Amino acid sequence: MSRLVMKFGGTSVADLDRIRNVALHVKRERDSGHEVAVVVSAMSGKTNELVAWVKDASALYDPREYDAVVASGEQVTAGLLAIALQRLGLAARSWQGWQVPVQTSDAHGVARIEAIEASGIEEGFRRGEVAVVAGFQGVHAGTGRIATLGRGGSDTSAVAVAAAIRADRCDIYTDVDGVYTTDPRVVPKARRLERIAFEEMLEMASLGAKVLQVRSVELAMVHGVPTFVRSSFDDPAAPRPGTLICGEEDIVESQVVTGIAFSRDEAQVTLRRLKDAPGIAASVFIPLAEAGINVDMIIQVASGDNRHTDMTFTTTTADFERACALLTDKKAAIGFETLEGSTDVVKVSAIGVGMRSHAGVAAQAFQALSDKGINIRAITTSEIKFSVLIDAAYTELAVRTLHTLYGLDRVAA
Ligand code: ADP
Ligand code: ASP
Ligand code: MG
Repeated sequence: MSRLVMKFGGTSVADLDRIRNVALHVKRERDSGHEVAVVVSAMSGKTNELVAWVKDASALYDPREYDAVVASGEQVTAGLLAIALQRLGLAARSWQGWQVPVQTSDAHGVARIEAIEASGIEEGFRRGEVAVVAGFQGVHAGTGRIATLGRGGSDTSAVAVAAAIRADRCDIYTDVDGVYTTDPRVVPKARRLERIAFEEMLEMASLGAKVLQVRSVELAMVHGVPTFVRSSFDDPAAPRPGTLICGEEDIVESQVVTGIAFSRDEAQVTLRRLKDAPGIAASVFIPLAEAGINVDMIIQVASGDNRHTDMTFTTTTADFERACALLTDKKAAIGFETLEGSTDVVKVSAIGVGMRSHAGVAAQAFQALSDKGINIRAITTSEIKFSVLIDAAYTELAVRTLHTLYGLDRVAA
């Protein structure tokens, strides 16, 4: 008998009607003979509400209690879906993370899954039960405390469960019918992809396409789990297959650029008139690293007078204030004149395995953006992607420009 993991995100379980609709999707797969583990998110908006409550309770909250609170949203949907399935005549039970157990690290709020003990779920399969697993959560074995996996983490729960039960497939049901060439809510001409390579999906997700959590794609790639992104809003009796995330070798027709991603979660910091001497980059970036602040793009301007230089880097908006405060504190020791910062920036990226064998792909983008009067603040490139940092006001124009430039626009039927 084949095994299947079906994951349903927040909008797919937003209310009881939608949960009943999810139950019909699950029934279809059960009726066609699959053993099914379902992974659910909290109802849409629920996790945001829980996070806001925690922050309201205390700005300096205990991260273990944050996890105890925010994990509760998934507990509710798992129970409700199990009830909805039972009402359709299916045997089903809910599993919270600690009951499975899904073992995680103790990095509360951003924990990683370390192991999943699948025997309980598998015994349930032998009894003919559907396992309804609360996504986004697990338990740290050492302390026995509940831990959550970071926002969007139910995707990762789903792929990890699929790997643990050796599922034939992991279907991620969401509010769009697949992975698109860019966010279809921003570019109406975005095209749905039949297939996308793991490496490309990994870059798309890490560069801002929130359709899948990055870690879920890593796990799918490492464990070779065939993963589909598809719509829970399709008729449960006649669903479409969605987009398959698969090995590069399984992609028949590929373009140089597969997709455009963008991230608004960026902040830029510029240090002016730094002393231009060996060790200067270390004096800036070591304290940031020690404070756990991740830095992404870095530009050091070649010095005009051999004495002073400017340094620009980007970080996440969450780390921005901390990075500025820390560097301002160390101003005398580092030796710069002024610090300028902005959160009004966005990173736009183009991704495609075809870039490996084509030169000048990024150069075309620089020209096209300049033709639209968009100024580029920073650039990074690597084997299968490049990114530009621009003013946030130009986000949509830049994404659409690159989307058209690389021939990704949907042709009207
Ligand atoms: P869920 O609640 O089901 O986990 P998410 O909101 O996390 O759903 O992810 C789905 C959303 O991802 C879509 O509604 C869409 O706006 C967004 N998205 C961003 N980039 C893409 C893309 N390239 N393809 C499809 N969806 C994308
Ligand atoms: N409910 C969690 C969140 O909103 C996890 C998820 O939806 O994947 O981040
Ligand atoms: Mg999500």
